[in-house]
Amino acid sequence: MYVHHDQAVVDRLLALVATGVPKLTIANDLGINVKTVRRWVATDGIRQPRREQCSGTTCRVREAVDRAAYAYLLGMYLGDGHIVHTRRSFRLEIACDPKYPGIIEEAMDAIRGVLPANRVLARVRPHVVMVGVYSNHLPCLFPQHGPGLKHTRSIALEPWQTEIALDELPGPFIRGLIHSDGLPGAQPRPRGERQPVRVPALHVLEPVRRHPWAVRCRL
Ligand SMILES: [Zn+2]
Repeated sequence: MYVHHDQAVVDRLLALVATGVPKLTIANDLGINVKTVRRWVATDGIRQPRREQCSGTTCRVREAVDRAAYAYLLGMYLGDGHIVHTRRSFRLEIACDPKYPGIIEEAMDAIRGVLPANRVLARVRPHVVMVGVYSNHLPCLFPQHGPGLKHTRSIALEPWQTEIALDELPGPFIRGLIHSDGLPGAQPRPRGERQPVRVPALHVLEPVRRHPWAVRCRL
């Protein structure tokens, strides 16, 4: 648990350390946990920024999200995206076909809309462009993140995602699914292939199909 202390206390602590008083003694004298003393000594009293804690129900990034950009990005993520847990953060990666620079641009714009404070990355590889972004809020935004491949896991949309992507903005959502081949039939089956190349968003399609507008459109 992070506890705020006065800068005066921090200064006093550092002055005592400088005169050689043992850290445990200082901790007892100032009524501070010895781990806190050690951390402040290690950082010269500079406080580490408090890491934001998001729960399953509250996330300031999610609450302020550009909903149209999110709906599109969710479609892209369910089709061709994945989230990697790095040592200090999370990275979203969306595999884009370099033949469609317009889609790459649209994916990058959507990420900017969803995480405006974060830098959007585009890594060019021989046959794919990985569009991505680092953020600690990615699991809040895409709770479908979990171990294993998306198309081997059961994928369900959370109620707030259904509200944005199906009730409010099905257009951008379906566009994202189509752009990422998440929708079966969105891409012609290569000659001689018995199965479509990939239909990773199939799990999500059932609730999509059952939604009133999908029934109306005979999706
Ligand atoms: Zn969050």
